[in-house]
Amino acid sequence: MAERRRDTGDGRGAGETGAPRPGEALERAWNGLVATARRTVSDGLVVGTSGNVSVRVGDTVLVTPTGVPYDRLTPEDICGVSLDGRRVLGSLVPTSELPMHLAVYRSTDARAVVHTHAVHATAVSTLVTELPLVHYMSAALGGPVRVASYATYGTEKLAENMLRALRDRTACLLQNHGTLAHGATLDQAYDRTAQLEWMCRVWLTASSVPGLTPTLLTEDQVAQAGERLKGYGQP
Ligand code: 13P
Ligand code: ZN
Repeated sequence: MAERRRDTGDGRGAGETGAPRPGEALERAWNGLVATARRTVSDGLVVGTSGNVSVRVGDTVLVTPTGVPYDRLTPEDICGVSLDGRRVLGSLVPTSELPMHLAVYRSTDARAVVHTHAVHATAVSTLVTELPLVHYMSAALGGPVRVASYATYGTEKLAENMLRALRDRTACLLQNHGTLAHGATLDQAYDRTAQLEWMCRVWLTASSVPGLTPTLLTEDQVAQAGERLKGYGQP
């Protein structure tokens, strides 16, 4: 029988037996996080346990645990930290990229962050310092996507470089490493990641034709597309 819970107000809760257990909002968010992490593997954006995903519920940040294959994650594996990185839920060790995830939540209103090692995005991160404007969908990420300077994975230095590249954008590339995107939801952060990977693939494909150079859009053209995108989709 399902145990009744008392709500502690911030999406957390405690069982009537006194053992702390996550509230429904956190359980739902964890399920969404696991589904998103699995999607990064099934869609080929990462291999094995590479990459990581997080989602913010109140002042708790749920994150994928480090080095655990996503298909093995169960509802009991919930892994949560506070905004200053203290472990508040679960016993698994959080992702090594906690500094990057927390840096995003501390400095933006993001509710979800997705980090991948997508092939084309990672390849582009070794070639340029900014993704050339090959497509108007750059506007959906806030403008030309910058590449954060290389630093060792999992370090505060990488988080610092990433934040600089992310200014006024919702995604960036990490030099010789991968992608980072955030959003108001897990789906939005995931979708931005997929759009970024797709644009990187377009640029690599177009720029690899011998003797030809791709035309690029101007910042103005991308900004105009950005205005129009505000009304995109169903009312
Ligand atoms: P974690 O398994 O610790 O999340 O690390 C994967 C990764 O992509 C590091 O950059
Ligand atoms: Zn990584």
